[in-house]
Amino acid sequence: MRYAHYVSGAFRNDGEPFPLIDPSSGKRSGTVPAASETLVDTAVTAAREALRGPWGQLGTEERAQVLHRIADGIEARFTEFAEAEVADTGRPRELAETVDVPRAVRNFRAYADLLHGRPERAYTATAQGDGSGGALNYSVRRPLGVVAVIAPWNLPLLLLSWKVAPALAAGNTVVAKPSEETPGTATLLAEVIDAAGVPPGVFNLVHGHGQGGAGEFLTCHPGVDGIAFTGASATGTAIMRAAAEHLTPVSFELGGKNAALVFEDADLDAAVAGTVRSSFTHSGQICLCTERVYVQRPVFEEFVAALGKKASELRDYGPMISAAHRSKVLSYYRLAVDEGANVVAGGGVPAFGDGRDSGFHVEPTVLTGLPQSARTVREEIFGPVCHVAPFDTEEEAVRLANDSPYGLAATVWTRDLSRAHRVAPRVEAGVVWVNCWNLRDLRTPFGGVKASGIGREGGEYSLDFFSEPVNVCIGI
Ligand code: NAD
Repeated sequence: MRYAHYVSGAFRNDGEPFPLIDPSSGKRSGTVPAASETLVDTAVTAAREALRGPWGQLGTEERAQVLHRIADGIEARFTEFAEAEVADTGRPRELAETVDVPRAVRNFRAYADLLHGRPERAYTATAQGDGSGGALNYSVRRPLGVVAVIAPWNLPLLLLSWKVAPALAAGNTVVAKPSEETPGTATLLAEVIDAAGVPPGVFNLVHGHGQGGAGEFLTCHPGVDGIAFTGASATGTAIMRAAAEHLTPVSFELGGKNAALVFEDADLDAAVAGTVRSSFTHSGQICLCTERVYVQRPVFEEFVAALGKKASELRDYGPMISAAHRSKVLSYYRLAVDEGANVVAGGGVPAFGDGRDSGFHVEPTVLTGLPQSARTVREEIFGPVCHVAPFDTEEEAVRLANDSPYGLAATVWTRDLSRAHRVAPRVEAGVVWVNCWNLRDLRTPFGGVKASGIGREGGEYSLDFFSEPVNVCIGI
């Protein structure tokens, strides 16, 4: 696998190389070049120049065609993308083939579809001046400009394309930085964008680390007009500090400590199966995964027993992304016990008896018995683990769900329609699922409240972030 920067339409691999480790085997799988501050500056300059070139003159239909060509390019290299995503993250191949790669294709097509039939620039209603009829107002949307896109390792291709597609759709130019842990599919995406005939400088890719590396060079750069970031909340704080210097607008998708509320009237089998998915998919390394489950007392014991059984039966799951992340997750497993948790399932390192044993796996884990104040219940672990606690009333369930510094997603399991409608809007989260999890229409608003994010992505919401309305007032 080749890992290269893509700057001003050229692939290059200059910069201090750093090793890439395969999380499934724990072995070194490649070497990645880290972009220098000079290279990041070259990329930002190229992006600025490209804004002034032919790209800046393209109409919406032409940009839509470009997005479709990128989607076609990913489809044409589907297997390579799936293999690269598996190599970088260790996720089960089925996930890469059914979620990550198809979703990347859909991200580009969805924004191409949103552009179809849209007037070139102006699309707001007109307002009649100051009420005297003496003026006509309309608004045009201009691209934000040069946009920095910084992505995490947990869904590398999906989350990168989720930002690059709307940024290009709105007419911006992009400098993207994937996670240092997962450079593979980002490099393939640059190859596809190059082959799609996107003019040099419109899309640039730089590899490297965050703090003290390419990420920080990018977020501190005065030539960047907007930062779209997905990652940890603490990183969001660091980026916001950097962005404050030049008052650069930010769009943040950050961490979570997502709650599931299981009411006594729920379809319990569905709630258990849904919680197995929401807590353990991709070994809990999805920002939307459930780490806190609250179950109404009459069905608490039955729910815990069923969830624990299913968790211990899981076999085909991927590793933590790195040795460091596995150490972090295992330190929470130990902390939970120190805090007084009952370990219903898991709690350690699995022994598969095959090559996976040298990888960074941890067991899917179900805990009970901790108070709401326990660190295990309050802090994002980002592994295959959930804590289950009982509640008595609807009021208490809402209070417990909201008792968190985070507010990304929540799931409500109930057969009572009125209760679903009562509870869902009271939960402090950007996304609330009822009797399902992780169903996404790409046009709906996506994002978090509190420490889970700033702004919303998805459909028009992303286009809003990636463009600036300019009001034109014509005196009559
Ligand atoms: P991270 O914050 O460590 O890294 C994310 C990206 O930011 C990487 O590319 C990294 O190199 C870069 N980075 C790190 N420090 C930086 C700095 N000071 N300046 C500029 N860039 C910097 O996150 P991660 O460990 O890769 O991903 C896991 C986290 O992401 C979890 O907290 C998870 O909840 C969150 N996440 C949130 C969402 C969401 O949609 N809300 C989605 C996926 C992941």
